[in-house]
Amino acid sequence: MKYISTRGDQTQRGFSEILLEGLAPDGGLYLPTSYPKIDDATLSKWRGLSYAELAFEILSLYIDDIPASDLKAIAAKTYTKAVYGFDAIVPLKKLEDGVYLEALSNGPTLAFKDMAMQLLGNLFEYELGRRGEQLNILGATSGDTGSAAEYAMRGKHGVRVFMLSPHGRMSPFQQAQMFSLQDPNIHNLAVEGVFDDCQDIVKAVSNDLEFKRKYKIGTVNSINWARLLAQVVYYFAGYFQATKSNTEKVSFTVPSGNFGNICAGHVARMMGLPVHQLVAATNENDVLDEFFRTGTYRVRKGAETYETSSPSMDISKASNFERFVFDLLDRDGSRVKTLFKDEVEVKGSFQVSADEFKHVPQYGFLSGKSTHADRLRTIKDTFDRFGLMVDTHTADGLKVAREHLTPGVPMLVLETALPAKFAETIFEATGRQPERPHWIAGLDGLEDRPKRFTVVPADVDMVKDYITRHCQD
Ligand SMILES: *Cc1c(COP(=O)(O)O)cnc(C)c1O
Repeated sequence: MKYISTRGDQTQRGFSEILLEGLAPDGGLYLPTSYPKIDDATLSKWRGLSYAELAFEILSLYIDDIPASDLKAIAAKTYTKAVYGFDAIVPLKKLEDGVYLEALSNGPTLAFKDMAMQLLGNLFEYELGRRGEQLNILGATSGDTGSAAEYAMRGKHGVRVFMLSPHGRMSPFQQAQMFSLQDPNIHNLAVEGVFDDCQDIVKAVSNDLEFKRKYKIGTVNSINWARLLAQVVYYFAGYFQATKSNTEKVSFTVPSGNFGNICAGHVARMMGLPVHQLVAATNENDVLDEFFRTGTYRVRKGAETYETSSPSMDISKASNFERFVFDLLDRDGSRVKTLFKDEVEVKGSFQVSADEFKHVPQYGFLSGKSTHADRLRTIKDTFDRFGLMVDTHTADGLKVAREHLTPGVPMLVLETALPAKFAETIFEATGRQPERPHWIAGLDGLEDRPKRFTVVPADVDMVKDYITRHCQD
């Protein structure tokens, strides 16, 4: 399997070449040259597999430059009950008839990003070891991504993490989770500024090509193909749990921000997984809902990007959306380049033609939007009726899912975080505190642990200086 860019560069690259990279050199995103098609016999065979075995089967269709036995061992050590608390790894919970939650947030940082990041940590360690190289991961986080990256990379050989976060602005739980890590390869830099300052510093450092090369700077953001690939697995795993035979279809609703999670659902559907609909649920930051309703993709400005109670979906643009548009436009890279480079970068938006928009339904996409009031109502209603607490992002999904039910087709809402991570809003909705998952060690008294972080001014040179001094440890 080889990979090409969404912006027309036809150079074909192997998986190991793109594993440690972000964007393709022409600014596009990587996608496989074609999607492997899964036939009925293969689906039937996969039905009986454990999650780790299923992950291996799917990964091996896309990765042909890592020996099968090594890939199998990597999948087996990533997806274990010890880490995820359940044999099924992503167990289904039934709510009312036809509506299920697929639990993706049972990993170490209580959010679905662990599903991919844990695999990425093991793949990075493997590939860097094989090359005899080192990597210094530089990232900016407002919470979820940074903690998932740190818990995936802690203690890994050849990898160091330098994670910038806005000083004093993350939730106490998020701060405690990240800052209590004592692993010497994890560096928390609390920047005296807001999240955008952190992101600007990462961009400035990454744009200094000489510094980037000399200090082997890399990233782990959601456009990384390996992260997306890891997410394809749980669409299959959810399907197998919800159905008895391959003639049945299911739909998925996905709480969406950067379109990474739901894009993996699109890939699964393109492979032939019997998916009826893929529903993108947004919060007040409704970039994606706007597109699926109108055909216009409009990036929001800072002032138009709202801080909400489902903060991991507070995005101004959807970084992975370009992948779907590439397929929608019959993989016409030059047209994608016109839309995303000439139009989005210049005027902040594009509109696909009526003829192009007409094809969206054949990819199964629908969308909807949920607000703070909807979120509170859904959390309370779910608790009252089922005795179950859902987090704020999952609540957005559940609200939108119920607007798109098809009789006879199970709707699987992806649970993207556990309520313990967003206790304040859960309390606002139900008057109770959410429980912390018992299978994750160290959550009791987390906030009282010693914290390890360095406060730095919002200054590119100071951050570079810190990296220079700590990247040989
Ligand atoms: C990151 C995140 C999302 C959004 O996922 P995308 O892949 O960016 O669409 C939704 N919910 C939670 C809890 C997240 O951490």
